[in-house]
Amino acid sequence: MSLTRDDILKEAKAMGIQFLRLQFVDVLGIPKNVEIPAKRLPQALSDGVNFDGSSIEGFVRIEESDMKLVPDLDTFMFCPWEKDDRVARIICDVKKSDGNDFEGCSRTNLKRILKEIRTKGFEMNIGTEAEFFMFKWDEKGKPYTTDKGSYFDLLPLDHEEQLRRDMVIALEELNFNIEASHHEVAPGQHEIDFQYGDALKIADNLITLKLGIKTLAIQNGYVATFMPKPVYGVPGSGMHTHLSLFQDGENAFYEANSPDGLSNIARGFIAGLLQHAPAFTAIINPLINSYKRLVPGYEAPVYIAWAEKNRSPLVRVPPQRGSGTRAELRSPDPSCNPYLAFSVIIKSGLDGIEKILDPGKPCNNVNLYEMSCAEREEWGIRNLPRNLGEALEELEKDETVKCALTPHILDYFLNAKQREWEEFQRMVHPWEVDRYLELY
Ligand code: GLN
Ligand code: MG
Ligand code: MG
Ligand code: MG
Repeated sequence: MSLTRDDILKEAKAMGIQFLRLQFVDVLGIPKNVEIPAKRLPQALSDGVNFDGSSIEGFVRIEESDMKLVPDLDTFMFCPWEKDDRVARIICDVKKSDGNDFEGCSRTNLKRILKEIRTKGFEMNIGTEAEFFMFKWDEKGKPYTTDKGSYFDLLPLDHEEQLRRDMVIALEELNFNIEASHHEVAPGQHEIDFQYGDALKIADNLITLKLGIKTLAIQNGYVATFMPKPVYGVPGSGMHTHLSLFQDGENAFYEANSPDGLSNIARGFIAGLLQHAPAFTAIINPLINSYKRLVPGYEAPVYIAWAEKNRSPLVRVPPQRGSGTRAELRSPDPSCNPYLAFSVIIKSGLDGIEKILDPGKPCNNVNLYEMSCAEREEWGIRNLPRNLGEALEELEKDETVKCALTPHILDYFLNAKQREWEEFQRMVHPWEVDRYLELY
C-alpha cells in the first residue's frame, strides 16, 4: 500500500496527531529524530525538513552541515508508546540541502544495493530474530536480571511475560505481523519475532522494534539492551538473519529437481556469504563486545561453514522448501546498523551467484567444535575474526564488501571503529586487576 501526502494529512487529523517525529539513523545505526508540531506537517511532507547535521555521528563537517530529512510517506505511523501526547513518526532519508543523495545515509545506501539486485531480476526477502535482555538497576547502579527463566519458560520463572506481551501489542498496533515471542535461554533474555519481508522494510522495522522495546522497558522500570553479550557465562543476544531471493514471484533458492531442493542460485549465495564472512563481520558484529558472543558453547557461530541439520556453523539451511526455502546467517547481532548489515550481506551473496562460487559440502553430521584444527583445515573451514581489530583488518582487504558501502560510510566506520579498538586495547580492565595485581 502506498500512502500519499493527502492520505497522511487526513489520517493525522483524524487521529489528532500533535507531533511528528522525523526519524533517521546515524552511521552506527543509532536512531535520531527531529520533532515538528502538527501545523508543520503539510510543508514537511512536501518539502522535507532542513536540519544541522554537524553533530551526528558520521555525517558532515561544520562547514557543510546543512542537510535535509525527506520523509518516506509509506512509513507514517502512530507511536502507541507515547503516553501523554498524540505522536506519530515517519522514517526519512537524509539528503543534502540541495536535495541530492547524502553519502552518509545508511538507508539510501541499502536502497542502492536493493536497486542493484532488482536490476538483476531479484527481490531480497529477509527475516530476523533479534534477542535482547531486560535488566533493573540495584542501589549501587549495577544492572541485574530479575528472573531465573530459561528457554520458553513461563511464570513464575519468566518475570517479564506481561511486559513482553505489552511490547507485542504495541508492535502489532504498528502493523508488525508478530510471529512469536518467548523467553530466551539466559535469565532476563527474550525474543520477539515478526514476519519476514522486503529488506528495506525489515531494516526500518528493526529500528522501530528496538525503539519500542527500549521505550516500554523504561516505562516499566527496566532497561532493555541489544548489547550482544551483557553477561559473562550465559548466552549472548544474536540476530539470526534469514535470507531468500525471489524471481518472478517464485523463491529462487528452491529447485525441486535437485537432491537437496536447493538451486544453484542458493548455492552461489551461500558460497558468497562464506567467502566474504571475515570481511562483513565488522559491520554485522560492530562492537568490541560482539566478539565475546562469538565463542564456543553458547549456540553462536565461530566457524565459517554451512549445514542443513546442524546449528553450529555460520549458515544453516532450515528444512522448509518451496516458497520457504532460505539460508539463515547466524552471526549478526542486534547491535549492528541493519541498513549497513543487509547491504554487505546482500552484496556478498550476489557476488557468490555472479562468480558461481561453490559452498562445498554441508557439515551436516559433524560437530565443528569437536573437530581438531587439522580436520577443520582439511574441510577448508576458517574461523570468524576473533575480535574487532581482526575484523577491521579483514574488511579493509575485501573490495566486494567495501563496495557495498559508500566511501563516506566506509571511511567513517573504519576510523571510528579503529579508535574504539585502540582505546579498548590501551584500557586496563577490572579482570586484569583482579587477576594480576596481588599475584605479581
Ligand atoms: N542466543 C544465541 C545466539 O547468540 C541464539 C540462540 C537461539 O536462538 N537458538 O545466537
Ligand atoms: Mg528464534
Ligand atoms: Mg533465539
Ligand atoms: Mg534461528
